[in-house]
Amino acid sequence: MSTKVDPRQIHAQCIIKNTAHTSSQLTHLLTLYSKSRTQHHSRIILKLFSQVPSHDVVSWTSLISYFSNSTLSFHHFVSMLRHPTLPNQRTFASLFATCASLSKFYFGVQLHCVAYKLGVWCDAFSASGLINFYCKIRVCGSARKVLDEMPKRNGVCYSTLIVGFAQNMRAIDALGCFGEMRRWGLVSCMYSLSGVLRAVGEVAAAEQCRMIHGHCVVSGLGWNVVVGTALVDGYGKCGLIVEARGVFNELLGDMSIIGWNAMMSGYAQQGDKDLVVELFGLMEGNEIVPDEYTFLAILTAFSNAGLANAVKYWFEKMILDYGLEPWIEHYTCLIGVLGRVGRIADAERIALTMPYEADAAVWRTLLSSCAHHGEADMALVMSKRLLELNMYDDSAYVIVSNVLASAGRLDEVREVRKLMKHRRVSKEGGKSWIELPGEVHVFMAGDKTHVMTKEIYAKLVELREEILKLGYEPVIDDTLPEMDKVVKSEELWYHSEKLALAFALVSGAVPPGKALRIVKNLRICRDCHMAFKYISMVVNREIIVRDSNRYHKFFNGNCSCADFW
Ligand SMILES: [Zn+2]
Ligand SMILES: [Zn+2]
Repeated sequence: MSTKVDPRQIHAQCIIKNTAHTSSQLTHLLTLYSKSRTQHHSRIILKLFSQVPSHDVVSWTSLISYFSNSTLSFHHFVSMLRHPTLPNQRTFASLFATCASLSKFYFGVQLHCVAYKLGVWCDAFSASGLINFYCKIRVCGSARKVLDEMPKRNGVCYSTLIVGFAQNMRAIDALGCFGEMRRWGLVSCMYSLSGVLRAVGEVAAAEQCRMIHGHCVVSGLGWNVVVGTALVDGYGKCGLIVEARGVFNELLGDMSIIGWNAMMSGYAQQGDKDLVVELFGLMEGNEIVPDEYTFLAILTAFSNAGLANAVKYWFEKMILDYGLEPWIEHYTCLIGVLGRVGRIADAERIALTMPYEADAAVWRTLLSSCAHHGEADMALVMSKRLLELNMYDDSAYVIVSNVLASAGRLDEVREVRKLMKHRRVSKEGGKSWIELPGEVHVFMAGDKTHVMTKEIYAKLVELREEILKLGYEPVIDDTLPEMDKVVKSEELWYHSEKLALAFALVSGAVPPGKALRIVKNLRICRDCHMAFKYISMVVNREIIVRDSNRYHKFFNGNCSCADFW
């Protein structure tokens, strides 16, 4: 990327020509050193700075910006004000960068005030620095306000905000912001495009991904490798794996390891282990050295496919053949798959002896495995460990009470429920969404706010009758006294994913023959999973659900996860 000349070369030439003493030449050298961002130049910078006969905002800003990774920049800023020299927008841009990287909230807000008083906050450099600062400290609302208050909006500030929203998992805001930027006629750049594609992946907005792809091509950035990588990642997360591969193949020669990993993790999410391995071979053929993320994709693929021995093989290969140190995520894959095949004791031993302190994800994985295999005692142990880390983790209570209920241990179920109530733990609300061309429809559990509510509920009644005929029985996840069960099975029918599915069917917006795609914020529940298998037969269509864990493809009464998720 860097075609910059080493500032020391130019400095040496100045010394030879005996020009390294004028204010302008010294300031120029300072700027060069400052932009080089090489850490070991601090002594040269300070010496040059002391040689400048009279300082101006440029020399001060170079000094401040060189030290923008440390609080020294604040010290130099104060000296600058004492001298007195007033800062400009570039000075503020680098000070905001310091505040963002060191998470200096109060400094940042005070600097915002100073910039405001000096009337330079709304210039492109300082404003985008300010937006980035607010996003980094997770106060996106203030970042949004900065943009809204700008008298003249610009593409750089929009890009910064789009990336900021995407990094803060505020995908819908990022998408909205991108649309707004386009409406203002501002040109998109690789940053705004990769930011918005990250957001698209988070909510699996497949149609948006296609539209943005088109926009990338039109704006001439379709061949940019950063944008291409973001497209592969976005398409992969949307489950549009063929499209992801298309972009990947076009840019194959230029793809960095990040792009290869994005493609592999796209396959892994689908549980497509053969393609992951094939790509791994291709990767080595292209002399790309695999890293930890590469192996995480491989392990995830085999773990999703439930192949414990293969996971073990690749786990060992990663350490022995490639000298890579597994992260906790790699261990979690291993623990997950061992649990899945019923080797719970082995999985637990790894959780307790691995070089990392087991986190909530590890215990939750084990808890789900115990639940799947009906190991009530072990499940109780795992839920206790999970609750030690966070006593408000709703999944711990819900899963363990289901296992205990299936084992007929109703007294203990009551204890768990009492504890949950006492601690005021509430289940996270289910939310599902479905994307139609140009719009996203969001449903909460029991939602009656949609304009087509009447049709949706009528469709659900119809579907229910149909699948009951085929042998569907409600799976009541939560355990309640016998008399409440009727109410409960009624409630099951208004889960957000069922509402979204019914809407997709009644709206008629998804053309016949095309898969119905639903995204859910939590794991799909057992009843919806069961119901969707039957519904896929009734409507004779493919139904794709991306839940918080993986993709489920329902077709002809089966699911691609083979009932383990
Ligand atoms: Zn459900
Ligand atoms: Zn499934």
